[in-house]
Amino acid sequence: MPAKSSRLLPGRLRFLAPARLCAAALASVLLTTLLAPAPAGALALRVPAQTPLVTDVPVEVSATDPPGVGLLFQDGTLVRSMMLAPSAPATFSAVTLAPGTHRLRLVLRSRRGLVSSPVAVVSAWGTPPAPRSMTPVHAGLYPKCVTLPVFVGVGAERLTTLVNGKAVWTSALVPPVALPVALTLPSGVDEIELRAENPLETSSTRYRMTRPTWPVPGNCTVGSGFGMRWGRMHKGIDIHAPYGASVVAAAPGKVIWARYLTSYGALVMIDHGGGMTTYYAHLSRIDVKMGQQVKMGQHVGDVGSAGGAAHLHFQLFVNADNDNPDMYRRVNSGTPVDPYPYVRP
Ligand SMILES: [Zn+2]
Repeated sequence: MPAKSSRLLPGRLRFLAPARLCAAALASVLLTTLLAPAPAGALALRVPAQTPLVTDVPVEVSATDPPGVGLLFQDGTLVRSMMLAPSAPATFSAVTLAPGTHRLRLVLRSRRGLVSSPVAVVSAWGTPPAPRSMTPVHAGLYPKCVTLPVFVGVGAERLTTLVNGKAVWTSALVPPVALPVALTLPSGVDEIELRAENPLETSSTRYRMTRPTWPVPGNCTVGSGFGMRWGRMHKGIDIHAPYGASVVAAAPGKVIWARYLTSYGALVMIDHGGGMTTYYAHLSRIDVKMGQQVKMGQHVGDVGSAGGAAHLHFQLFVNADNDNPDMYRRVNSGTPVDPYPYVRP
């Protein structure tokens, strides 16, 4: 029985991967020459001859056809795909057409092979809508692996994510749609662009997202992680490094503490804006001053020791009160978060 169901719907046909769309479009040229149209009424597009530029395209599959993947071609180019079942009405919703006349064709890929509908000639007219409404992302420090919640409004057919101008992910869409966009950020200050497109228009939203760098170059061993330790909260990570090794700013910011503070020992705190602060504790030497602006990777001091072992105690706080004029109130304000996902190599 399991063998039968997998034969019915081979896995590779359940979804058409975006990267295959181009290849599929080329294949469409072959398809149109090889396919015989289905008998009238069996497989059909029920789209009116005159349509607005964004239109729903209802389709029909006969009771005798097996279930399969419906592929919608516009002027020989694959524009949409979806699962179709026999006798069940289905609709490709909000298909965007350029002004003018187009040839639409539905192809059903099933275990019986390929079947084509007759070509539907449609004339599209009206004012094109712009692709819109992508959920904003706040600037700030981000971990290496981040998932952005994105909403794409009606009008877009394709969403592309670019990191520093380079496309890293692209997908066809049936808007309006909310979807998670997963990104792996290189360390540094990155410009992220979300680009929604239809054949006529492009709408872009750009964000600056900073992925911090590792604060002790060349020393990657974490001896003690973030979380409960010996019945107390360990609010940062301990990075083992030789005494005197250079400690660098994990991200650009302003030094808001550069002196001794109780159990932290010699401490540097850097305000990165947006309520995010990094702490560099147990230093043997401090090489920055209060109020100084530092760049990502800029030397701030040297590794010292605490509890008999040389290490850097590194913390990241969010929602910190860094604008408070009383600098003592800035210390430990906010919520500690595990810095490792942010700075991990
Ligand atoms: Zn520690």
